[in-house]
Amino acid sequence: MRTLVLNAGYEPMQLISWQRALCLVVAKKAEIVARYDGMVRSVSASMPRPSVVRLVRYVKAVSYFGRVRCSRKNILLRDHHQCQYCGLRGRGSAISVDHIIPRSRGGKTTWDNVVAACHDCNRRKGSLTLSEAGMVLLSLPRRPSWRELIANLSHESGVEWANYLLTAL
Ligand SMILES: [Zn+2]
Repeated sequence: MRTLVLNAGYEPMQLISWQRALCLVVAKKAEIVARYDGMVRSVSASMPRPSVVRLVRYVKAVSYFGRVRCSRKNILLRDHHQCQYCGLRGRGSAISVDHIIPRSRGGKTTWDNVVAACHDCNRRKGSLTLSEAGMVLLSLPRRPSWRELIANLSHESGVEWANYLLTAL
């Protein structure tokens, strides 16, 4: 579970683990703005798991929400965990990442060269190009904005902090 860190002025800064967020709260560096259901118990106390925290003092820092990293997780999130060749939707390991121009032919892991693909389509395409494989894409891949990714994430999991980000971005 992730916690959204807001700067003192409520600008979204970064996502961290809720454990790290709780450490910030315990150290009085942040206060809890919103919380997940349920409590965590330590030896001496029981604490809420924060879903959004706000830093007590303003931090001059570059927001993490600059460029969206081209990671497997983000690619699948951009493509709604849907195979961009046949349209199959799947969770977990059912959907993998395919390089449109295969890596064996110099294709890079960049936003315009990677799409979510099911195993069948991934295998079928193998090290062929789109035209060689006679396959077409459902949509043209491009770099998503944070707003799009967070909207997708919010849609998928209904996490509470997504609303803070969407109004702030
Ligand atoms: Zn497929």
